[in-house]
Parts: sequence; C-alpha cells; structure tokens
Amino acid sequence: MIISLETDVKMIIILIELLIAILFTVLVIITFHKRDIKMNILFFSVILCVSVITIFLTIFFEMPRMSMNDVLEVEFGNGKIVVIPKTRYFFKDITDMVKCTGKINYNKLGEYEIEYDVPILFNRVYKKTQIIKIVDRTAPEIILNGEEELKLNSIAEYTETGATARDNYDGNISKLIKIEEEQISPKEIDIKYTVTDSSGNITTKIRKIYLIDNVSPEITLIGKSKIVLELGEEYIEEGVSAIDDKDGDITDRAQVEGIVDTSTVGNYLLKYKVADTTGNEAVTQRIVVVISKKAEEEECEESKKGVIYLTFDDGPNANTTPKILDILQERGIKATFFILNYDENEAQYVKREFDEGHTVAIHGYSHEYKIIYQSKDAYMENITKLQEKIKETTGQETTIIRFPGGSSNTISSFNPGIMTLLTNEVLVNGYRYFDWNVDSDDAGSARNSKDVYKNVIKGLSKERANVVLMHDFSGNNKTVEALPYIIEYGLENGYTFERITETTPMVTHRVFN
Ligand code: ZN
Repeated sequence: MIISLETDVKMIIILIELLIAILFTVLVIITFHKRDIKMNILFFSVILCVSVITIFLTIFFEMPRMSMNDVLEVEFGNGKIVVIPKTRYFFKDITDMVKCTGKINYNKLGEYEIEYDVPILFNRVYKKTQIIKIVDRTAPEIILNGEEELKLNSIAEYTETGATARDNYDGNISKLIKIEEEQISPKEIDIKYTVTDSSGNITTKIRKIYLIDNVSPEITLIGKSKIVLELGEEYIEEGVSAIDDKDGDITDRAQVEGIVDTSTVGNYLLKYKVADTTGNEAVTQRIVVVISKKAEEEECEESKKGVIYLTFDDGPNANTTPKILDILQERGIKATFFILNYDENEAQYVKREFDEGHTVAIHGYSHEYKIIYQSKDAYMENITKLQEKIKETTGQETTIIRFPGGSSNTISSFNPGIMTLLTNEVLVNGYRYFDWNVDSDDAGSARNSKDVYKNVIKGLSKERANVVLMHDFSGNNKTVEALPYIIEYGLENGYTFERITETTPMVTHRVFN
C-alpha cells in the first residue's frame, strides 16, 4: 500500500505510537523480569491500556480529509462544474459515500452554501460546508458601428455612428456606453467607447480618426479673367489670392505660368497654380487678348482674304447630312459641322464627316434655350457632354463651339447677362467660339434654294474671311440644292474653301445679353 505522507500522516503517527508501545512493553518485561511477576503484569497492563486508549482516541478523532476550498469561485456561464470533492478517510477513498445538500443557481450571480455529509465510524456523520460564488469576471464586448479607422479632413466631418455592447451576464448594455473624445496628436483623435457591466468589468474600444487634408485651396483671380489690351499697352499682373482651409493664406505660394507679349497680337493664357502643404492643388486661369484692330484686319486680309468657311448647324440628319457630304466630297471641299446630340444610327454621319476631313464641332447636346442658358453650369455641361460623345465617335477632342442662336442672341435674355458670362467662360476653359458673318437664312425667311443661294452670294466678301451659316437639319433640301451652285460661284470667283480649325481666327458677334 502506498501511503501519501501528506494525507495519511496521522495514520503513520498512530503506527509509530503502536510500535513504541510494543517496544516499550518488551523493554519493561526484559528489564524487570527479576522483579515480582505481579508487578510485571501490572506494568504491562498499564502500558497496554495507555497505548490502547491513545490508539482509540486517535481513531475516534480522525476526520475525513476532503480536497476542497472553503470558498469556490465559479465563473458565470461555465456550466455546472461543482463536483463532490475527493474524500479520504483513514486509508480509503470514500468520495462515493459523501452526500451533498444545497442548491446552486448557476444562472444567477451570488453566494451559495453547500453541505457535505460524510458517514464516519461510530455511527457519526461528519459535516462540512462550502461556499460557492457564482461570479462574472468576463468583460463585456464592444462592437463599433461603422469603420474602426477613419480618415477625415476635419473632426467636424465626423458623424457618431455609435457602438453596441454585449455582456455575457447583462446582455445588451449598449445604452451604458460612454463616449469620449481624446486628441492624441494634431493629426489623430481617439473616440473612446467605455462600458461597465453590473459586476464592474470594464471594456474600452477605440475608433481612430486620422485628420488628413483632402481639401484643395481656393484660388481667386484678382482682376478680370479676360483682359483685352491694345497692342503695346502694358499688362499689369494683378495676381491671385489663395486661401487653404488648413494652411490659411497661401497667396505667396501661388505661381503663374505663361507670358503676355503685348507687342504681338494674340491670345495669351495665364495659368495660376497653388498647392497646400499636403500637395492639394488649385488652378485658375486668365486669358489676355492683345488686339490691334488695324493690325488684326491687315493680318486677316493677308492670310484669310477670300476664304469661305461653310458651316452646317443642327445636324447630323439621316436625310440631309449624307447629301451634303456627297456634294462636298465630289468637289473636294472641306467644311465645318456644328452638331447636336445624335443617336446610334446618326453616329455614322458624324464618323463620316470626320473621316472625310471635315471639322466636327460642338453646337450643343441640346438646343433648348430655356435649358442650356439657365446657368453657366448648365451650358458648360451641355458642351462637355457632347464633346465627350464626339471623342468617343471620332477619337478626337474638339474645342470649337457655336452657341445655339449665336453669341449675339437675345432669346437668352430670360437670364440677364448669361451670354456675357458664357462668351468669357468658354475662352477661359480653352474653347473657341464662332459666329458667322454670312447668313444663308435657310432656317429663316429663305423660301427656296434660290433664296439660299442669293443670301450667301450677297454676303460674301473678298476683303475678309467669310463664315457662312447653313443648316443640315431634316428636310432642308433648299440648302442641299443651293450648295453646288454656291461652291461653283466661290471657285469661279477666286474664293478658297477651308474648314475651321483650332487656329482659325475667331469670327464673333457683338454680345447683347
Ligand atoms: Zn442651331
């Protein structure tokens, strides 16, 4: 039998006691054998009695040994884990004989008392109590609604999306969440969510906000965006002002690109750029037009004298456009088409115009005056939308435009000043617009091809560039019929036919609105 020193130490003591008693008895008998036999028996008896009593008392007071703590903590939610403790009595494991009374509610935190009853020798019962504490030491869990990390331009952009908190014992305790804001550094803010459950367990979760700068500075031109100077007049750079939401006034960082040569007639585009510390850029531009009416006319006369620019508006049209293209092709004449939005079928005519060397230019996605002249944005969208579509069809981007109704129209007067604004805006955005100086009136009072022919011939001049307004809208047969004769007249009278290009000097009306 293996005896555990720790648990059975009392038993060993009993055995030693017994051994000593026997040894002592033997010793007494040997030592005193010469004495009176009665005395020896008395001695022996007394010693034996003392030994027996000692052994009895030791056995009587021996109690079961239970392997347990007086107080046992059990984590809530771990299930029924309290078991009858291992119990030894003398050399025997008597765990099976232990009876347990008392109840534990594992679903409720608290202290529960349990009693263990162990039957022992001499018909007695040994009682032992144990305190079971159902405790909650598990901290709640916080789940953030939305991103755990945000990159924002400023804390003002932050909208609290909240969080939910669940506890193993209390359930949903989202309402107990406390939210705090802590500035960690100039570029970092922590939103701290803290919740405490009913047992005092605390959980903290952090949402990180990184402040980044994604807002471009604002650059504002000082002075006008279009400046017209006479040849030789001094150009005074007024510069720009620039403000950044983070850096403040950054006017001194603004740079200008481009030069103005007031000794040479021309359009000069000045680009102003500024960048904030983070590198967000802002640009604006100014156009400086250096003119010399005299000089310009002379130049025009020299280079463009007697040129006819045939222009066709409001197409493409499945009936009219191919006929016009055929006539032009037969005679090797290049013209300019200011087109409107077109459908899938009509795209082939746009393609043909481009492929046969004509200029495909922008009239507008829509021709509705009420829509396109309601605002600057509406107009700019009207041209950029068509510009993109033309690029898809032809592969080439055009910046040549003609305002529906011309820049001189007054039909836009429901929006006062819009044409003044737009004629400036398109130039600033790199477009060039063309009106006309010869009107065939094929969209107006011309009744037949003869009228169209007469109106054009009457308007032509060898002393200037001639921009002829015609239309290739549906059913415009009078223009189709007049066109061969107009070309014939032009060629016979020493005119040359050209298409409008990006470098063609603008021919524009006076703006009335
Ligand atoms: Zn039109």
